Amino acid sequence: MNFKGIGASPGIALGKALVLKEAELVIERKSIHDVQAEINKLEDAVKISKEELVKVKEKAFNELGEHEAQIFEAHLLVLEDPELLDSTIAKIQDEKVNSEYALNEVKETFVSLFESMDNEYMRERAADIKDVTNRILRHILGVKVVDLANLDEEVILVAHDLTPSDTATMNKKMVLGFLTDIGGRTSHTAIMARTLEIAAVVGLSSATETIKDGDFIVFNGTTGEVIVNPSEEVIENYRDLKKEYEDYKESLKLLKGQQTITLDGRHVELAGNIGSPKDVEGLINNDAEGVGLYRTEFLYMDKEDAFPTEEEQYEAYKAVLEGMNNKPIVIRTLDIGGDKELPYFDMEHEMNPFLGYRAIRICLDKTEIFKTQLRALYRASIHGKLRIMFPMISSLEELLKAKEVVSEVKEELTKEGIKYSDDVEVGMMIEIPSAAVISDILAKHVDFFSIGTNDLIQYTCAVDRMNQKISHLYNQFNPAVLRLIKMVIDNAHKEGKWVGMCGESAGDSNMIPILLGFGLDEFSMSPISILPSRKLINSLSYKEMQEFANEILSMGTSEEIKEYIDKKFNR
Ligand code: PEP
Ligand code: MG
Repeated sequence: MNFKGIGASPGIALGKALVLKEAELVIERKSIHDVQAEINKLEDAVKISKEELVKVKEKAFNELGEHEAQIFEAHLLVLEDPELLDSTIAKIQDEKVNSEYALNEVKETFVSLFESMDNEYMRERAADIKDVTNRILRHILGVKVVDLANLDEEVILVAHDLTPSDTATMNKKMVLGFLTDIGGRTSHTAIMARTLEIAAVVGLSSATETIKDGDFIVFNGTTGEVIVNPSEEVIENYRDLKKEYEDYKESLKLLKGQQTITLDGRHVELAGNIGSPKDVEGLINNDAEGVGLYRTEFLYMDKEDAFPTEEEQYEAYKAVLEGMNNKPIVIRTLDIGGDKELPYFDMEHEMNPFLGYRAIRICLDKTEIFKTQLRALYRASIHGKLRIMFPMISSLEELLKAKEVVSEVKEELTKEGIKYSDDVEVGMMIEIPSAAVISDILAKHVDFFSIGTNDLIQYTCAVDRMNQKISHLYNQFNPAVLRLIKMVIDNAHKEGKWVGMCGESAGDSNMIPILLGFGLDEFSMSPISILPSRKLINSLSYKEMQEFANEILSMGTSEEIKEYIDKKFNR
């Protein structure tokens, strides 16, 4: 059986499938005679659940830190709550019913009680109760539980989608690859797979329906080809491809420590995109020349019940600045909303969340959240070379307001006698067409721009970047997008400001020659793309790419542009 999806993270994977499906818990009411046997069943399931949770908590603590471990601590507390278990046992005894039915009834009562409370924190506890009781129910019913933190054999994960907590808790050494039903090259799972250097294909539509646990899979994370239960010949072929890919990766190591410079001497900066201080290791392994985008929202999304404190943020920013040894680090202020939610921050349901209350709009409305982050950033600025960047700026007013808050924060810190660097560059993302169009004006008020093509494409072409049905319209070679990019670079350069790009196009081998020709100064990408991009740029002539990019600007369709690139580079 063959599938074709979107190649989201390079690499060749061969292995057994592990399909992650939310197991259905079928709960029936049964009358029982042996009360003690039911109570024993319940107590055994609780005991196993407890042992599991203790192990997961320890693993999370050792590998991810205290904060992540707290989620499981909360689950253990629910498990140890006598109310829950005593009520279940009483129900078994009084009504002579089976243990899973009794537990499920008690669960529903507790969950609706907590969900109806005024207090946000208490409402959140309903989710913990559901999680824990479902874990016990699965053990009573003998439903297999996939524990990603404790995988004991190598697998290819097949899922509808992977959540940030799946990717954070999984035992990465045992995961050979990801396959998902939904998502595109810029979805969370795709970006995460590249950061973790795990091969992945996304947007397969029905992988979880068609692939069964234990099926043997081979796939190519670049082309998006997936084959289920292939012939011995195909397996051999994929083994060769895997070896070839590994040799290629090995050969890239020779580029470590080298400069990124075209044949005719134009230098550009190759930086990495990260979501947490833990990703710094991947940047160093891939010889990143800096960080072009630190997505701080994961720091906020990892928290269960409150915004990260100034101190917590300071520690994270300091860790990245110090970890990267004085290389420039662009830290983006909070970009929440759209598809990224916070459990402790009530956001009303919106018709169009990507066009709604998000990112800088929230920060300028709730300035206390913004100020806490800016204080942490400026305090951390003494530990390295910090650049601050605002996301989702759509007008000059927003930029000026954001800069005003920056000035207030700096004044406050000065008054409090707290040190910060005088040398922090302040820039903004260009990811909304209205900002691109007035980039000549905006350029006068910033130190740099970073172009966010992931959003710029979706807003310019009115194509939801998460919607697979229209993914053929989400195209980086759209002439309108290319013209906007060129315009932004020219406008910034006229004001003497540098321009980077941190959208996924910056690491795309088809886009790099054009972007180089447009004069882009900094390319920021998944760490895994850095060395291949250096190899490519070092083989190109800037002058030739300028001419090539100019020709492309005169073309009317993305097909024509893509064909021209393929022809030029023999692809
Ligand atoms: C972008 O929009 O290109 C970008 C880098 O931001 P994000 O993918 O986090 O929206
Ligand atoms: Mg964006």
